[in-house]
Amino acid sequence: MTAHAKAVVAGGAGFLGSHLCEHLLSEGYEVLCVDDLSTGRESNVRYLMERAGFSFVHADVSADRFAVGGHVDLVFHLASPASPAAYLARPVETLMAGSHGTRNLLELARSRGARFLLASTSEVYGDPQVNPQSEGYWGHVNPVGPRSAYDEAKRFAEALTVAYRKAFGVDTGIARIFNTYGPRMQADDGRVVSTFIRQALSGTPLTIHGEGHQTRSLCYVDDTVEGLMRLARSGHSGPLNLGNPRELTVRRIAEMVRVVTRSDSPIECGPAMVDDPKVRCPDISLATTLLEWSPSVPLETGLELTAEWMAGELAAAPQAQYA
Ligand code: NAD
Repeated sequence: MTAHAKAVVAGGAGFLGSHLCEHLLSEGYEVLCVDDLSTGRESNVRYLMERAGFSFVHADVSADRFAVGGHVDLVFHLASPASPAAYLARPVETLMAGSHGTRNLLELARSRGARFLLASTSEVYGDPQVNPQSEGYWGHVNPVGPRSAYDEAKRFAEALTVAYRKAFGVDTGIARIFNTYGPRMQADDGRVVSTFIRQALSGTPLTIHGEGHQTRSLCYVDDTVEGLMRLARSGHSGPLNLGNPRELTVRRIAEMVRVVTRSDSPIECGPAMVDDPKVRCPDISLATTLLEWSPSVPLETGLELTAEWMAGELAAAPQAQYA
């Protein structure tokens, strides 16, 4: 890396993006965070505003007039509604972020000779019929179901990324990120960890969709960011799974949240969600072989760090976060 290496992080004011910005700064990168604050928060990066080398631009990456000046070495595309609550509320914006947003950021990378990294998702595997999922699995996605805006946006974004590599020689990498959790997740985003912790901290029942036998694999945010950085530094095109292969039922995750929060909230079952994946577990052999990467933060530790952070948020702004 040169002394002036510069990274553009689209979606940098979000949960994952803010941790990535912080990490890039710590490695000496100049960081331009581009975000429309549609699901992210300015407070996620406020502490970075004072840091040398960090700048923030309020912009929609899907807009036709989107432009960034100056030299760029790395372009990270994390700009998309990502939680079920967000993409169900913004299906059109989600598809635009995957299509127009991806094209605009690929064009940025192409015009500067930069490496482009797409934050894709395990949701490209849909409700998978094989478990664990390796990169060679093509997925089982309902193109017109309630989750389709997100799943198909990311599938299109992957295809466009591959096309730019082939047609224009852009240096691209695709990360398929599995469920990631940690501080700065939004308490009301509908994700399993944030929902359970919010419920446990506020003393309400932990609600499970269906019986809770569906499985999830949860990766702590620091591990995901480290994987993204390794992919960025490598020349690998991917797609490459980044996630934690420790697979647990949703009921077991609820029980663990009750333990770390010392909560006696009951666990209650509700109606199952349409197209909710029944299993979700990454095969990370490729990342382990190519990047020498595997997650290192135990779930118990990560849940404690996340619960501690959310408790602080609750104390600071109970209405905003927990209404
Ligand atoms: P997030 O909602 O916290 O962050 C997304 C950020 O993108 C937000 O700050 C939002 O304001 C911004 N954004 C959305 N649309 C935009 C647009 N058109 N222009 C500019 N900014 C825009 O979500 P996250 O969990 O941090 O996810 C970040 C990325 O990683 C997403 O692309 C998501 O699909 C991907 N991902 C996340 C996970 C996970 O478990 N967190 C798993 C798989 C993939």
